[in-house]
Amino acid sequence: MSRAFYIGRFQPYHNGHQSVLRGLARTADEIVIGVGSAQLSHEPENPFTAGERVLMITASLKGIGCPFYVIPIEDIKRNALWVSHIISMTPEFDVVYSSNPLVIRLFQEAGMEVRSPAMYERETHSGTGIRGRMLQGEPWEHLVPQSVVDVIRGIDGVGRICQIVKDD
Ligand code: ATP
Ligand code: MG
Repeated sequence: MSRAFYIGRFQPYHNGHQSVLRGLARTADEIVIGVGSAQLSHEPENPFTAGERVLMITASLKGIGCPFYVIPIEDIKRNALWVSHIISMTPEFDVVYSSNPLVIRLFQEAGMEVRSPAMYERETHSGTGIRGRMLQGEPWEHLVPQSVVDVIRGIDGVGRICQIVKDD
């Protein structure tokens, strides 16, 4: 029984994340997905709530053919304790998939196996780039699964981002 762990902020969930998780579904028996910085929302860098991100991920992975759990995880702002914090909130997992240097380092120091999946078209597929496109009124819909487009339209997510960057 191999359970894989994958963590991100998913602001928003995009085709790069989807590509990694499709790959994981072929190798792992189960996948645990951590939604990081769960307490943050309505900020330019973190526009979507944990619940909205859970919906994006769950809808996009419907039919992926591998059981998965989506678990919001709040920041504790103490990197040395962060891995223990995650372990306390999730089903037990035995391998971590991440390309984020800090995440890799923290799990390796905790003695866990870490694998780094190949990046999928990183120049275009990044949360930062997609949020920037939303703000500039540029097309972004082709960079995320259709389910994510539906969630973001349903909450007027682009309107939210454009409104919260303004000053009073
Ligand atoms: P941001 O720009 O807001 O940091 P991001 O695209 O890096 O967004 P995260 O939620 O920070 O997305 O990342 C979650 C995980 O997904 C990280 O391990 C990150 O390296 C990985 N990831 C991000 N973009 C891609 C991509 N295009 N292909 C594969 N993995 C990716
Ligand atoms: Mg990132």
